[in-house]
Amino acid sequence: MALTFYNTLTRKKEVFTPMREGRVGLYTCGPTIYNYAHIGNLRTYIFNDVLRRTLEHAGFRVTHVMNITDVGHLTSDADTGEDKMEKGAKREKKTVWDIAAFYTDSFKKDLITLHIKEPTIWCKATDHIKEQIALIQRLEKNRVTYTIADGVYFDTSTFPSYGALARLNLKGQKAGARVEMVKGKKNLSDFVLWKLSVPKDGHPELAEGSHRPQRAMEWESPWGKGFPGWHIECSAMAMKYLGEEFDMHTGGIDHIPVHHTNEIAQSEAATGHPFVHYWLHGEYLVIKDAEKMAKSGENFITIPTLIEKHHDPLAYRYFTLTTHYRKQLAFSWEALDAAEQGLKNLRERLYESGDTIGELPDTIKKKFTEIIGNDLDMPKALAYLWNIVKSKKPGAVKRAAAQEFDTIFALNLLAHKTESVPEHVMILVRERETARTKKEWQKSDDLRKRILEEGWVVEDTPQGSHVKPV
Ligand code: AMP
Ligand code: ZN
Repeated sequence: MALTFYNTLTRKKEVFTPMREGRVGLYTCGPTIYNYAHIGNLRTYIFNDVLRRTLEHAGFRVTHVMNITDVGHLTSDADTGEDKMEKGAKREKKTVWDIAAFYTDSFKKDLITLHIKEPTIWCKATDHIKEQIALIQRLEKNRVTYTIADGVYFDTSTFPSYGALARLNLKGQKAGARVEMVKGKKNLSDFVLWKLSVPKDGHPELAEGSHRPQRAMEWESPWGKGFPGWHIECSAMAMKYLGEEFDMHTGGIDHIPVHHTNEIAQSEAATGHPFVHYWLHGEYLVIKDAEKMAKSGENFITIPTLIEKHHDPLAYRYFTLTTHYRKQLAFSWEALDAAEQGLKNLRERLYESGDTIGELPDTIKKKFTEIIGNDLDMPKALAYLWNIVKSKKPGAVKRAAAQEFDTIFALNLLAHKTESVPEHVMILVRERETARTKKEWQKSDDLRKRILEEGWVVEDTPQGSHVKPV
């Protein structure tokens, strides 16, 4: 059955046709690892995961590439401001490398906790400086760049369709622009490809022979010591691992007007042909009562925050699935509680429907495939499962449906009877699941013993951990 997706490029739902039969190349902009990922970021990665699982459910072999931004992402989109990594390092009085290692690790843990599949290929910006320099040189050869004191810039006036992805009105942009523009830039929308550590005209305090401020991250290049701009890393790494033209690229909606617009311009100006066929973007998670929560220091919510507050992190995954990925989703603790209750009820009903899993009727499979294939309609798919679970269908069919749908929902629907297992035991069970995913067998064994001491036995089934009283 055909899959259709809303393509930001055309602003239409389109039937998905991959470049190579049965295979999909998918690139997702990864996190900038100067802090924990917040639950808003993670909403975008859950949407990605649902996309990937849907493609796999439809039989495609997906090569999923995700980058880790560990250099070049400045605090301002106007190519000014501080590098976010250096800001994080200052805040925590650590080196940028320590910051990068710590938050990459915490991000990967979040993915495991939320049942987000690991990409096929991880790639770090700082491991691909050579590729980024080569791409900038290619652009230079094509005469679409210029060099000013601050560094090498992409000249957007050379790329006639610049801004098409975002439907940017460049004239309007110029007229109403705030003036925060690097000196020497020709057009407001031009963006940096290589930023020099010390501008060629120097800082006023940098008289000849004076001390050069030491940047933690800088590399030699044909233009001088410096570091790549944020956008070039994604083009260079996507092309390296997926080819110069590939199927799909995803991210949050904030990437449309600048980051992805610039990725398209520099990639297509280098190669002379289209870069990506389908662009998919996830809407934002917004915090309801953000002001109130900010005052109580609560509006930066992470997965560890949810766990500290004794929430099942999968309840957050369930919560995000109740709204279509292209609609804004408002977070509040009450809404999360309601989702958590919903998930518990669903698991409970499935638990009560017996312990056999029957054959899944073709009609159900077909309808489910149709729903998810229609631009990932998760709210409708969840409602459909609820209908089946509440119906008079045999328990074995309900469980078969849950098992099939859970290949995409990934909510441990058949795993355990959560209601009766105390939360402090569930925390240990989840910790153990994480340890098992990371193949930390000793830790997993120790946790099994602690769970046993609490009066519970944990069994590993193909659907996940099953917890029973001793
Ligand atoms: P960053 O680490 O800032 O590069 O962001 C990582 C991902 O999270 C990007 O795809 C952003 O578009 C996305 N993102 C940032 N804020 C939110 C939010 N509030 N809701 C959903 N996605 C977000
Ligand atoms: Zn990117």
